[in-house]
Amino acid sequence: MSQRALKENGSIHQTNYKMASGSEAKLHCPVCCDIFKDPVLLSCSHSFCKVCLRRWWRRKEALKCPVCKRISGKKHPPCNLALKNLCEAFLLESDQFKKLHKFLEEEEKARIAAVSAEERWKREVLKEKMDVLRREIAALSQIIRATEEELRAEDTFFLNNYKVLKSPNSLNLWAEGGTILGV
Ligand SMILES: [Zn+2]
Ligand SMILES: [Zn+2]
Repeated sequence: MSQRALKENGSIHQTNYKMASGSEAKLHCPVCCDIFKDPVLLSCSHSFCKVCLRRWWRRKEALKCPVCKRISGKKHPPCNLALKNLCEAFLLESDQFKKLHKFLEEEEKARIAAVSAEERWKREVLKEKMDVLRREIAALSQIIRATEEELRAEDTFFLNNYKVLKSPNSLNLWAEGGTILGV
């Protein structure tokens, strides 16, 4: 609003200045609307950035306050040290806040990355388990098919071969398969 105010009216509206009266707004120069840089104090008690006031006065004949129009007695008004310190403290605080915010953001990203790595690992383990199950089911199906074929065969042949199928090894396989399928 400062640049526009400079061009349009050659003055800062009192209302605009009053609008920016929050605690943070008090740290803003009414000319540039930024946080004060090297603020200087006029006798009317209004403050401005040193550079802003210098630029303002360069365009004006009288050394008037850009806000209240009162003529300043001094061409080089004194530094507003209290305001300068306040602005510096505010900038430092917002800088620390930004750093903290960035740190928390990175923490969150790392956490999400860790979670997705764990998810990937779990999925791999599950896939391996599924593969084992699939292989076991395939082996069982083959035994079932073989048994069915045997059943279709002649009785004498079936009875003879069934004894072989009932050998201890085949029984173990059936037992294992049963346990796994039960899970
Ligand atoms: Zn300024
Ligand atoms: Zn003033």
